[in-house]
Amino acid sequence: MALSQCPKPFGPLVHSWRAQAAIFLIAIAPLAARAADYAGPLFDAHLHYNEEAWNGSAGPHSPADVLARMQRNGVKAIVANSRPNDGTKALASLEQTLQAGVTVVPFIRLYRNRADYDSWFRDETIYEMVQTEFARGVTGAQVGPYKGIGEFHLYDSANANGPVAKKLMQFAEKNNLAVLSHVDDVAIDLLMAHAPKARLIWAHTGIGGAPAARVDALFARYPTLMGELSYRPGLTCDAGKLCPEWRALLLKYPGRFMIGSDTWVNQRWQYYDELMKGYRVWLGDLPPDVARKIGWDNGASLFGVKAP
Ligand SMILES: [Zn+2]
Repeated sequence: MALSQCPKPFGPLVHSWRAQAAIFLIAIAPLAARAADYAGPLFDAHLHYNEEAWNGSAGPHSPADVLARMQRNGVKAIVANSRPNDGTKALASLEQTLQAGVTVVPFIRLYRNRADYDSWFRDETIYEMVQTEFARGVTGAQVGPYKGIGEFHLYDSANANGPVAKKLMQFAEKNNLAVLSHVDDVAIDLLMAHAPKARLIWAHTGIGGAPAARVDALFARYPTLMGELSYRPGLTCDAGKLCPEWRALLLKYPGRFMIGSDTWVNQRWQYYDELMKGYRVWLGDLPPDVARKIGWDNGASLFGVKAP
């Protein structure tokens, strides 16, 4: 019913409490019909804390700043990786990260600098750096081993067959490390051929927009493949809700998807609140148990993080 129709029938009674309540209920009906946003904990499965964000302490996003962003958005655990690895180690080492209630799941980044993006898959010094970093682990408040490698990029899927790419996949499989990879669907097949039991997290689940049917086929083929959903084209439609084919895919594989911020440039930190609110909107459109899995449980169980 349109609000403009209300005053006539209710006109003579409009000062009564009952009539006012009735008008109020009619007015809020469209809001009540909308599913509530997901309100549970979030596991940010794709987070970078790069040097330009903090730069020792001179950057715009100090540990206190990024921890406050996580805290006010209910982000209770993060997959942290950074160029170079010092940002991840800084976050994991700080007492204030623990006090903020944020669990850091540290990944070894393959990049010391921007030039490494284009050659890591054939660069033996990257392989050596990963060995050294893995042997060292992280120290401080959240002392422990690294839990994964990446994020890495393959702009040409054929480079998935580079000698270091192959060695790193096998190293990850052998040491039970997850792998966060920004690649296309062709490279998923190539990477999994090197290490069929590797726990591969597909960053963005295909940033180039691999069709939902192709994603479905890859998920069916590789039971250890997980999908992270930042920047995924075609995921959301009207009012930030899930598009029908993606809603169906998430319901088909509720244990295989995770959300992430992908703070690859400082601008993403400035939009961290909006990103997390956006996730809460479409997660609220799913059955509560599925929303909880994608928002928290899948990441938490992959890395053995306790419920907050
Ligand atoms: Zn990223």
